[in-house]
Amino acid sequence: MNPADPMFPPRPTALAQELLRPVIRPGDVVIDATAGNGHDTVFLAECVGESGRVLAFDVQEAALVSARERVASAGFKNRVKFLHESHVRMGEHVEAGSVAAVMFNLGYLPGEDHNLTTEGQETLAALEEAGKLLKPGGVLSVICYPGHPAGALEAAAVETWMAALANSGWRVARYGAVGTKRPAPFLLMGRR
Ligand code: SAM
Repeated sequence: MNPADPMFPPRPTALAQELLRPVIRPGDVVIDATAGNGHDTVFLAECVGESGRVLAFDVQEAALVSARERVASAGFKNRVKFLHESHVRMGEHVEAGSVAAVMFNLGYLPGEDHNLTTEGQETLAALEEAGKLLKPGGVLSVICYPGHPAGALEAAAVETWMAALANSGWRVARYGAVGTKRPAPFLLMGRR
């Protein structure tokens, strides 16, 4: 991170990648729970290298088309398996205790239907799944958007759920801007 950069301090999306980069090793299996336009999918594919695998979930066809294109342009087509289904089903595709990192970027896809957004109860169920799939030392990263009413409820529920992980030995942290007009997006990061 460069303090002379006008994007410093970093946004949660950039910070999530900065913090995950040293954790993910070539050959790892990782999950992008909300593929969207594929920015995180490309990042994860780069980290896992040729021998690793990314599972990328989205419920929206438009998102998967966009993410597939971005991944193909980056030359990482063979490293990513796209799944057109809810992230709540991630446990059907990979063994418990085998995943190095799971990334969630909640909310809706910019420019697309705002109704196709993540939803609190389903998000919590998917986080439960993610927690089971991570191996010891694996990392869960979640970006929350409390700037609108439904997002605020989801963000509060997710923060409570993540904070409770600390009782079972996880290390959990929260990062986000302060002094903003509306509640700012924030990043929750937990290490198993
Ligand atoms: N990480 C993405 C990127 O780099 O472009 C942005 C993700 S966007 C904020 C959130 C995405 O979550 C949307 O594309 C939406 O379709 C997807 N989504 C909503 N509910 C979902 C679910 N139950 N399972 C998987 N994806 C879901």
